[in-house]
Amino acid sequence: MKALAITGQEGKEKVQYMDVERPTLGPREVLVETRAAALNRLDIFVRNNLPSLKLAPPHIAGADGAGVVAELGAEVRTIKVGDRVLINPGLSCGVCEFCQAGEQSLCVRFGIMGETCPGTFAEYFTAPQENVHPVPEGFSWEEAAAFPLVFVTAWRMLISKAQIKPGEDILILGIGGGVSTAALQIAKAVGLRAFVTSSRDEKLQRAKNLGADVVINYKTQDFAREVREITKRRGVDIVVDSVGGDTYAKSLASLVKGGRLVTCGATAGPRPQTDLQRIFWNQLSVFGSTMGNRREFAEMLNFVRQRGVKPVIDQVLSLSEGANAMARMEQGQQFGKLVLKVGDNA
Ligand SMILES: [Zn+2]
Repeated sequence: MKALAITGQEGKEKVQYMDVERPTLGPREVLVETRAAALNRLDIFVRNNLPSLKLAPPHIAGADGAGVVAELGAEVRTIKVGDRVLINPGLSCGVCEFCQAGEQSLCVRFGIMGETCPGTFAEYFTAPQENVHPVPEGFSWEEAAAFPLVFVTAWRMLISKAQIKPGEDILILGIGGGVSTAALQIAKAVGLRAFVTSSRDEKLQRAKNLGADVVINYKTQDFAREVREITKRRGVDIVVDSVGGDTYAKSLASLVKGGRLVTCGATAGPRPQTDLQRIFWNQLSVFGSTMGNRREFAEMLNFVRQRGVKPVIDQVLSLSEGANAMARMEQGQQFGKLVLKVGDNA
């Protein structure tokens, strides 16, 4: 079968469209004929860290995918060949204390499709039966592949961790990334006032079209100062900061007393300068969050289905153009999701 595989060589040639063997199916797994797959920052991380992840080239990345069920493992009962499905990308052991408590993303052996096993950037992929869900009605293949990872991540951050409420103020940094865009869509659906930042005015304009109330270009303005001015020195209730680095101290400075900061990444660096005095004196809460558990995935799916919230898609390319899609993501040019068309859909 054709796949976009990481070959372990240098540069852009590290990712190649090539022939690889079709994956073998375990008894509790489902073989899916891929129609669309979506990129995440994780794929760049995997591409750049193959040796330390102990993955042997050629390795197929890709956490998000959707397609038609082609074959069932011997013990699979609830899914039929021909079903239109999408994938929950979180992989968990099912037996550790966290899995038993229903907290799959805390699993001691937690992994993600395409990171700890072959992923979705191929004509076929396999997934555990419990990770397979029907595609919501009215969703194209591209939309079905685009939302699972970023929406479940944003869902756990906002709903479970920060526990957002209607009427609150939320500041979302770096709008245009998959998680931040999903966070904006969820926050607006719940009824918050949303502040967003970007270094590019065209991204801020697109965020406005999605419902952002206050947009701040952080290249030309100090976003913490702007937030304090607009909120009359109060600050916002929640900050979604997956940037880290130099912005972290400003994120803390943007919060109201008793405010909550939630993070799921650190694209600008994982060891920022912090401000403990501000944390204890203003009684701030800092939440870390990774992906989501099965309950949160199901809640998020219901939300997307009932509210008709669709993921924002930046560009759709063919699987063979995957290296270019990765380059676009690496340069931060995208607004929303980069999606690859695969197989019959291409
Ligand atoms: Zn576990």
